[in-house]
Amino acid sequence: MLGLGVESTAHTFSCAILEKKGKQGKILSDVRKIYRPPEGEGIHPREASRHHIENSSIVLSECLVNAGIKIEDIDIVSYAAGPGLGPCLRVGAVVARSLASYYKIPIYPVNHAIGHIELGKLLTGAQNPLVLLVSGGHTMILAFLNKQWRVFGETLDITLGQLLDQFGRSIGFASPCGKNIEELASTTTNYVSLPYSVKGNDVSFSGLLSASKSIISKSRSDACYSLQETAFAMISETVERALSFTRKKELMVVGGVAANKRLSQMLQDVCKRHNAKFFVVPLKYAGDCGSQICWTGLLESQVKKGVSLENTFVTQSWRLDSVVVNY
Ligand code: AMP
Ligand code: MG
Repeated sequence: MLGLGVESTAHTFSCAILEKKGKQGKILSDVRKIYRPPEGEGIHPREASRHHIENSSIVLSECLVNAGIKIEDIDIVSYAAGPGLGPCLRVGAVVARSLASYYKIPIYPVNHAIGHIELGKLLTGAQNPLVLLVSGGHTMILAFLNKQWRVFGETLDITLGQLLDQFGRSIGFASPCGKNIEELASTTTNYVSLPYSVKGNDVSFSGLLSASKSIISKSRSDACYSLQETAFAMISETVERALSFTRKKELMVVGGVAANKRLSQMLQDVCKRHNAKFFVVPLKYAGDCGSQICWTGLLESQVKKGVSLENTFVTQSWRLDSVVVNY
């Protein structure tokens, strides 16, 4: 079975083709173009969607060429229907809908966050993990129970990715800033005390963001280091409590921030204490990509026929814990 997946929830426009044989999935191609806002600025939804429109046909044709596949060979097309930025989501939906309509291919709307998790499971081999989803759009701790992903902790305000990006922009990095902050943080071990805010098993990052900005003038690297140490310790505490509560024997980290080595190191320590296996999604597939959407669509196609074109909506605030997973 061959699937085509389209991702366009935020900064990335991506198409991917995967082949599914039984439970095995193989990525045949995954092509992305990423919208980069001007230095010091965040994503402007209209500008990002303009970027996606301009790049959609290039990405799609490169994806088909790389996979050595003709569009007529595709069995299903899936697209990220939310959560995300409305103008961006609509571009991916239009591309998928046009292909589905013209070539008569079954179409599947996919929840973007579930896409992160399912591709993570495919690539890491994790079976029944506690999931930490940390990206630009999400900060959530999740476990699967009775056909739904259940939330065991999440952010009460901004996400971990937003914390890093907003802080990074204030010291002059261009978004996304996580990698730059990680590099600068690795040059020091001088910790400056910052607000640590865990409420129940949820985290709050907005106070930490303001306080981190206020120490930039003393030392940019100390600020980066202290910000990472504080935010990642908050995440580790909540993950540890969730591991202990759910008694899961696996932890899987997915989302763009999963690329951070220091975060992995702290979480590995947590896993050691709880005798749990640690899995982190491969760097190349940590951020948003078409493969996440394609693989989830292929899984859905095992149990569903696809939706009619009239039902190919996008939903900006589509929470993953509202999705019933039947495959
Ligand atoms: P996503 O929304 O899944 O595409 O993830 C994007 C987020 O991942 C952005 O907020 C980036 O700053 C963040 N990110 C990417 N690489 C790293 C890294 N090495 N360390 C921390 N955050 C990162
Ligand atoms: Mg994402």
